[in-house]
Amino acid sequence: MIICPFFMQLDKGFTYQLLEWYKKNKRTLPWQKDKNVYKIWISEIILQQTRVEQGTPYYTRFINRFPSLNLLAKASLDEVLKLWEGLGYYSRARNLHFTAKYIFNELNGEFPRDYEGLLMLKGIGPYSAAAIAGFAYNLPHPVVDGNVVRFIARLLGIYSDKNASKTHTEIRKLLTPLIEDTSPSAFNQALMDYGSLVCAPKNAKCLECVFQEECYAFNSNKVYQLPIKKNAKKKNERYLTFMIWRRGDMFALEKRDDKEIWKSLYQFPLLQTSREQFESKKTLDYEDVKIEVDGPFVFETKHILSHQKLFIRIVRIPQSIEPPKNKSWKWKSTEEIKDLAFPVVLKKYIEQELKGNNID
Ligand code: SF4
Repeated sequence: MIICPFFMQLDKGFTYQLLEWYKKNKRTLPWQKDKNVYKIWISEIILQQTRVEQGTPYYTRFINRFPSLNLLAKASLDEVLKLWEGLGYYSRARNLHFTAKYIFNELNGEFPRDYEGLLMLKGIGPYSAAAIAGFAYNLPHPVVDGNVVRFIARLLGIYSDKNASKTHTEIRKLLTPLIEDTSPSAFNQALMDYGSLVCAPKNAKCLECVFQEECYAFNSNKVYQLPIKKNAKKKNERYLTFMIWRRGDMFALEKRDDKEIWKSLYQFPLLQTSREQFESKKTLDYEDVKIEVDGPFVFETKHILSHQKLFIRIVRIPQSIEPPKNKSWKWKSTEEIKDLAFPVVLKKYIEQELKGNNID
């Protein structure tokens, strides 16, 4: 790991200042009210890749519906995905459901009680294992998420790739002696909160920061150059046409089994094409059916995911065109659609149409 000559030392003085700040700025979050490992696990998985403000209503809905691990283990994946709808990174919901069933069936309903045991569970990496071990069992494992990497990289002048697991491991090593000397749950929460609330990505509050005098980035005028992101891969582009086939109150839907995105969510039948076909063709070649697109698409948008750029359009298929044979679609009524989980980009459209009841 490349670290610039230190302005700041990670020592007891750092811990003291951090915890003093935390005492004054502590937020009371719903999952911190008790040391329930199940609730802490749910909150930590929701908060991966999600801001506290966005994740809190999802957490509340999730815990109201599944107040215990047993209930989550017995639920259907469709119901879990429906509660997760709109939060993105759906593998988190699938892994939660898988792990709940695993703990219920294989571990007698008991969570592992140490960091290493937690790390063995599907969907739990070093960050989540450290957070759960710290908040539920008060075990001293520092959390290193994106907020912590940014904060520590700026503070110390670390010029290593912020996404590399090696960088996370090295920062974890730097923080381990500090957490062993204090309350692990307070230290971890303080670190994450400081990174997200003060040493923020775009509007860092350097002028009110308690580490300003010793901070490498502030004193070198490099706040927004750190942390470093290397080898950003070009986003893969995909061209997706969703087709609305309707028969009375029933709509044709398919369940996704795409390994890359939205697995197990529902969608209108999909035609994926090259960019050229997407841009130039007014004829859709779908299975054994040729569809002439007459008039504008009912919805067109761009949707950006972490590794993909999606070009999306929705088209209504005239009643006169028979659906292709041998398709394993499911025909669902408008009532049934309300209980199914869709990718957020389709959900917005569907809600709008169902509200106005103007899908023809
Ligand atoms: Fe972050 Fe600015 Fe504080 Fe440095 S001075 S730790 S860049 S908020």
